Amino acid sequence: MKESFIQSTESTFKIQPWEDSFKHLVAGFTTKNDGVSQGCFSSLNLGLHVNDSQISVVENREILANRINYSTTKWVCSEQVHGYNVVKVTKKDCGKGVTDYESGIPITDGFYTNEEDLLLTSCYADCVPIYFIEPNTKYIGLAHAGWKGTVHNIGGRLIEKWLKEENLQLENIQVAIGPSIGDCCYEVDDFVMNKVKEVFENNIPNNILTSLSNNKYRLNLKEANKQLLIRAGVREDNIVVTNYCTSCHPKTFFSHRRDGGKTGRMMSFIGWRK
Ligand SMILES: [Zn+2]
Repeated sequence: MKESFIQSTESTFKIQPWEDSFKHLVAGFTTKNDGVSQGCFSSLNLGLHVNDSQISVVENREILANRINYSTTKWVCSEQVHGYNVVKVTKKDCGKGVTDYESGIPITDGFYTNEEDLLLTSCYADCVPIYFIEPNTKYIGLAHAGWKGTVHNIGGRLIEKWLKEENLQLENIQVAIGPSIGDCCYEVDDFVMNKVKEVFENNIPNNILTSLSNNKYRLNLKEANKQLLIRAGVREDNIVVTNYCTSCHPKTFFSHRRDGGKTGRMMSFIGWRK
């Protein structure tokens, strides 16, 4: 599949087809480079909750704000808990969680807005960033899906909310699935495999789980999320999926699995410019 996530600066990728199609949209993902953090967080760690120096993370966030020309006073950050809560945010929420983790939107792994001049952000080191847009009404959303968010179908839940609470039309919704750990590098056990089976009601599409020996499996989280979104009614040709595996590219991305848990966080972001 043609790559949709194109590196645009040392520290950022952009979702090329979306930025080409939708004027005033900013949407992308960061690399681990071009920041000031040290050691295992070197250098563009954007996560405040991983025991890096808070001063460094805040400085890194200012560096990113500068690169994408989107002030941190307009950012919204949440307290991510590998859950499936999805909330609507507004201008009132701008600045939450930017300089301290505690002020972020509490216990929220998915959020969306239809307001301009507000940047949705969330942090990753292998989990799947899912981006949503309904260009006619200007709704945009983000969901953080590790295996837990995936087996709770956080992407499908966001779509359901858009249909039921915002009256959006399914056929207009587009989705992008960003850099995350690939099945090349992501082994799981029976426990996780069974949860994946459950969310697909025992009818798992091909290419999601591959059996290895000793009750281990390779799990394709990106494909699992894509298939769940298709089941939620999103048109397949409205979904783009990156080829990037965070674990396979140690010079570009942090990876929680590869780095043994001691690592920084990349950031997904999406917002409309005024
Ligand atoms: Zn890989």
